[in-house]
Amino acid sequence: MSLHETPHRPSSSLDCPVVDGRRCIQRIGSREADVGGLPIHRVLPTRERRLIGAWCFLDHAGPSILREGQAMRVGPHPHTSLQTFTWMLSGEVHHRDSLGSDQVIRPGEVNLMTAGHGISHTEESLAETDSLHAAQLWIALPQDKADTAPRFDHYAELPRWRRDGADFTLLIGEAEGHHAPTLSFSPLVGLDVQASDTTKLAVPLRPDFEYGVLVLEGGLELDDEAFTVDELGYLGRGRDSLEMSLSAGSRILLIGGEPVQDEILIWWNFVGHSREAIIQAQHDWEAASERFGDIPQWQGARLEAPPLPWSS
Ligand code: MN
Repeated sequence: MSLHETPHRPSSSLDCPVVDGRRCIQRIGSREADVGGLPIHRVLPTRERRLIGAWCFLDHAGPSILREGQAMRVGPHPHTSLQTFTWMLSGEVHHRDSLGSDQVIRPGEVNLMTAGHGISHTEESLAETDSLHAAQLWIALPQDKADTAPRFDHYAELPRWRRDGADFTLLIGEAEGHHAPTLSFSPLVGLDVQASDTTKLAVPLRPDFEYGVLVLEGGLELDDEAFTVDELGYLGRGRDSLEMSLSAGSRILLIGGEPVQDEILIWWNFVGHSREAIIQAQHDWEAASERFGDIPQWQGARLEAPPLPWSS
């Protein structure tokens, strides 16, 4: 999953302004893109918002019905200085990477690939998968961990609980006394909430975190404002709880984290803390450097990076 746009410096985190004594919620729409033959909605980054904590990229794929012979197929491509975080809702995707990891991800599981200094991977839906629904996010690594050794982790068991008519799954971080096993390098949280019937609930928040809520299915009301599928409400910092109303059959993804002060650049599949770091990564990929390894089982071409936006 990648970005083919002008590189940008993520905007710094902002508190949502207070209007008439109430904090406003920034409404962020998504745009359509194609990933490996599958239409997806890209929610982050946008012009209005680049980061939520260290979360720097958010694709919502599906729910898509795959017709006979149709598949998602993403060939070998590199990453640096980020973690790819995949949350599977339906269907099955086969991950392989240059460390030799070979893992099918199934609904209710998280795949977390820490790119660090450099890794390459492939992703393809299994032949028997006829519907696909997932969120894939990137987490920017802090500057002192940007070059950490690459690794891959798969989490089949995550903390789950139910209250007030809703099912919670903690994907990363801590919430309501639960701790996720998921490896993180900065203070973060990711929480999936699903409601079979209409329900109203309050979710405790950390005032030092900024948060966003994305609707994955159904509909959501935050502070009497309605949000629909593929809309994200950015909440800023300074809240200690969030009241939400979920319509029957809704599912939302709450992400949050401590605002990031480092400069973070994103170009194609690379995150970097300087232009030089990104230029070097691209040159290494183009030169088929050992930095990114290879995936010998893959039948097909590597993905090519678009031309760098800077003259080097
Ligand atoms: Mn990728």
